[in-house]
Amino acid sequence: MTKNQWKPDTCGCVLEFEFDADAPDSERVVTPTQVVKACAHHPLGTTVKENYDKVLDENQRKNFSIKELVDQVPELKSEDIKFSFDDDRTLVLKLPGYVDKEPLVLSRIKSRIA
Ligand SMILES: [Zn+2]
Repeated sequence: MTKNQWKPDTCGCVLEFEFDADAPDSERVVTPTQVVKACAHHPLGTTVKENYDKVLDENQRKNFSIKELVDQVPELKSEDIKFSFDDDRTLVLKLPGYVDKEPLVLSRIKSRIA
């Protein structure tokens, strides 16, 4: 088993996990083994997996949302999309460099979810 640390860009947690480096990607099982550092938003839960799942969920939600935005509006660059989480840990995306494109972005997203 190979151990690795994960420092997500969505919060200040540091999590340790292990995986079988020899297994093919599709069969690779990641087992969270330790909360090295719990950030203020993710106090230690009952199990390491509980913390890992929460942090992973937020991180994947962020990655997915940014990818979805860029897929819908190819004029956007993912690195220009700023993300944060509010007090309820709801994902907030901002497009500071694209104020003039906001109507375009909104109309594309609306047509997509309509
Ligand atoms: Zn955290």
